[in-house]
Parts: sequence; structure tokens; C-alpha cells
Amino acid sequence: MTSPTPARPQDLAPELSVVVPMYDEQDVVELFVARLRPVLDDLGRTYEVLVVDDGSRDTTPALLEKARRDWAQLRVVRLRVNAGHQAALSAGLMRARGRWVASIDADLQDPPETLAAMLAAAEETSSDVVYGVRSDRSTDSFFKRGTARAYYRVMRRLVGGHVPADAGDFRLMSRATVDAINRLPEANRVLRLAIPALGFPSTTVGYVRAERAAGTTKYPLSKMLRLSVDSLTGFSVAPLRLATWFGLGGAAATALMLVFAFIAFLTDHTVPGWTSTFVAVAAVGAVQLLCLGLLGEYVGRLYTQLQGRPTYHIAYDSADDDS
Ligand code: UDP
Ligand code: MG
Repeated sequence: MTSPTPARPQDLAPELSVVVPMYDEQDVVELFVARLRPVLDDLGRTYEVLVVDDGSRDTTPALLEKARRDWAQLRVVRLRVNAGHQAALSAGLMRARGRWVASIDADLQDPPETLAAMLAAAEETSSDVVYGVRSDRSTDSFFKRGTARAYYRVMRRLVGGHVPADAGDFRLMSRATVDAINRLPEANRVLRLAIPALGFPSTTVGYVRAERAAGTTKYPLSKMLRLSVDSLTGFSVAPLRLATWFGLGGAAATALMLVFAFIAFLTDHTVPGWTSTFVAVAAVGAVQLLCLGLLGEYVGRLYTQLQGRPTYHIAYDSADDDS
């Protein structure tokens, strides 16, 4: 007689994991739990709620402990020090066990009720990713709307049109998508760009961005800038290439100036020594920029290699059907 095989962790996998990064959210923990729980209980699916406490220094940890006592599906992963929203989300994706994994903000700006629509949309359209798209941002400040608009425009340029505009980190992902994200070795990844770049079939669900339920934003200007710089440098080596273009432009300008200097020299329109000094300065400048640009090209290659992203994504291989 064979003994029953022990349950493997994936057998215990809930149908849905909801990942929630929280940093100093003592004002919203109870509101959030009270609003999320009935929504999830009504889904009729097994679930876990995975709160990633991003090194909160207020009473968030204690409130979470309290909430956990009468909500068995609530799971808390605590980071020792504040790692930032994106890193906290990454930690959550790494540890989530669900067949589907959703990520949502703790401040109730992303309505939990939308999760049901996301699951339905994923299954109806056989999509791996469902982006929550803010169809109405009137509750955001003028400044936030303006900067967000600029951000999504630039990023769509850089990463490609498959980055949905106005989709933050409220989304639903299949297990395959989460596994693919977890395999990316790069640090400081920006999930809202890295996920569309994977190219899984996706769809969108619109929602109205609500006002923060309580407390204040944990995204000061410094963190917004950090996200923008990470987005730009994470998805483009164009800044490194600037020197190449300046160098090429400099070289062309130098060639013209050399002709000019030579004519001036021949027609005796110069003071002695001017031509040689001018030629030396212009030529050395152009050569330096070109060399810098060349370095930039190699650094760019190193950087891309180091990020270790897949260079292609296989959608389908007919041989897999036969096995
Ligand atoms: N957050 C986090 N770590 C941080 C900053 C924010 O985990 O360093 C969480 C925060 O608790 C919230 C989410 O990220 O659940 C979005 O932050 P917030 O609502 O403050 O940003 P905003 O909506 O103002 O852009
Ligand atoms: Mg918010």
C-alpha cells in the first residue's frame, strides 16, 4: 500500500491572491479590511489576502495582527525597512500563491468591488492580465493628473503602445504572468511597464479612482521622481547614447569649421597661431564626445544584458500539444 502523497504547496493554492502594499497606513487598515472582506467572501472562490507591510513605523503592524485574528485568509509579510511601493509589490508577487494574483492599493482609491469585474473579464476574454484603467481621475489633484499624463505619454513612446494609459498598479494577473515577472532578475523594476512588456494577452476594466479613504499620500514628489527616473532608465538606454549624437554632430560641425578656418588661413584673415589652436580644440572636443558615446553604447549593452530580460516571448509551440 502506498502512503498518500503529501500535499504540495501548489495543491493548497487559493484561486485568488490579493497583494496589498502598506506603508504607514494605520488610518486605513480597518476601513480597508471592512470593505475588502465582504467583496472577497462573495466571490465564491478560495482566496488569500497578502498584505506587504513595507516597514511601517506607525501602528499598522499591530492593526494587521489584530485583523488577522478573525480573518484566516489574511496573511502579512513584513519588510524590515521601507523598500518602496514597487519593491513591496514585487515581494508580494514573489510570495503570492494564487492561480490569479491581483494587486491593489490599501487606501481604497482602487475600489475592491472591481476585482469581480476583473476576474470575469479575464475569463471571458481568456486574458492573462487585466489592467484597471482610471476612467475618471477627477479626485486627483491638478498636479497629479498633469504629471501622470506626461508620464504615461513618455512611457508609451519608450516601451510601446501595449502600455495602457492611466493604468497604475491595480491589476489582475494569471499565475503564468506572475511567474514570468518573478523570473526577471532586475532590481528597481517598474511593474506597470515590465508587465505589459512581457506581452501576455491582456484586457482592461475601467474604474473611477476614488479619493484616499483616510491618511495622507505615501508618494511624495521625491518618490514620484524616483519612479520616473527608474521608468526612463529602466526601459531606455537613449540617455547613454546622447554623447554619440553630440559627438557625430560635433564631428560634422568640426568638418565645416575646418574648411572655414582653412579659408581664413589662406586669405590671411587670422592672427598667427589661431588656425592651429582652433583646429585642435574643435577636433579634440569632437573626438572626446565620440569616445564617450562609444563608451555609452557598451555600457548600454552591459546594462541590458544585466537586466536579464527575455528578448522574446513564445506565445505557442505546437510541439507542446503533443506531450
Ligand atoms: N506604499 C508602500 N510603500 C511606500 C509608499 C507607498 O507600500 O514606500 C503603498 C501605500 O501604502 C499604498 C500604495 O503604496 O497602499 C499607494 O500609495 P499612495 O496611495 O500613498 O500613493 P498615491 O495614491 O498617492 O499615488
Ligand atoms: Mg493612493
